[in-house]
Amino acid sequence: MPTAILAVLLGYVSPIVARIPALIAGAALEGIAGSVRWLGSLRIADVRVPTPATEIIVATAIALALAMLLARRRSLLAGAGLAALAVSAFWICVIPPHPRTRAGVLEFTAIDVGQGDSILLVSPQGHTLLVDAGGLPHWAHSELDIGEDVVSSYLWWRGISRLDVVALTHAHADHMGGIGAMLANFRPREFWLGVDSPSPELQELVREAKALGIPVVRHHEGDHLDVGGADVRILAPVAGFEGRISRPNDESLVMKITYGRTSALLEGDAERSTERRIALEDPQADLLKVGHHGSATSTIPELLAKVHPKFAVISVGMRNTYGHPRPEVLTRLQNSHVATYRTDLNGAITFYLDGQNVTPQLDPRPDPHR
Ligand SMILES: [Zn+2]
Repeated sequence: MPTAILAVLLGYVSPIVARIPALIAGAALEGIAGSVRWLGSLRIADVRVPTPATEIIVATAIALALAMLLARRRSLLAGAGLAALAVSAFWICVIPPHPRTRAGVLEFTAIDVGQGDSILLVSPQGHTLLVDAGGLPHWAHSELDIGEDVVSSYLWWRGISRLDVVALTHAHADHMGGIGAMLANFRPREFWLGVDSPSPELQELVREAKALGIPVVRHHEGDHLDVGGADVRILAPVAGFEGRISRPNDESLVMKITYGRTSALLEGDAERSTERRIALEDPQADLLKVGHHGSATSTIPELLAKVHPKFAVISVGMRNTYGHPRPEVLTRLQNSHVATYRTDLNGAITFYLDGQNVTPQLDPRPDPHR
């Protein structure tokens, strides 16, 4: 401030002499702004942690109150207050809370992402697999990042800090939009894709995954793997179909996940032609994640007869512009005696597959907007 004032005053006398205090003021300003930028760019400046356990929240609040009370006391006491704060911060950052999951069951949760899909699967051994992460179309011109603001928040609330797998069914914004935030926030061990779509947004995501050191794994029909005690079978897409699929929805990665005698079929946005093919591949499942948000182009009677589900879930946005889910699809499900749940009406819906039975559970948190 003094050098800036001096520069202004000297400016009336001699602009050349005024340059000296002006340069000093400029350097000081650059130093202040630069140190803020430098601190902000450090990785430690943006640490994402899951919601801590209640006892840690209470302990941290006590440590904070203690540090404030002791701040003006003798240096030893003030130091003790600071140490208590440092210990609680370390505890929150380094020791992850126990995820709120059930052991020995396969969990399937349709997260409410509005119009789009995001399914969290937790295996009987606690492995986590996230299929899609919602997203808004470009024409929505919204600042909201469904991955960062909805799916990440939900997972942190569940005490989840790492994911084992993030899978993307296909390169459409309502499935892919939130994936970038999931890769950055949860550093999955693998990123699964089906078809290698030419979509520039998908190519960008693949670059991001590689930059973060996350292996990109492509899966095709016939792949069969074990994820933490759950059996995952890929039913679509067919290998070698890259670029030959006329409808992008039919590029969808379709998977059946089984634990014991219970199973779920995840269709992505698969439509008629894919459904006809997967109807021939033993798609029987207790729970059906309805294809393409309940659009009339999916859930064909042939597939429904083969899957023969007891439960179905439709991930769909309230008052969406597409008219999803279509009444004819709802009628088809009703006529087949399928108990159908919808994220637009029920919010997040969890199904527990214990190997024998499937138990649905609705989100207990009340939502004033519903
Ligand atoms: Zn979709």
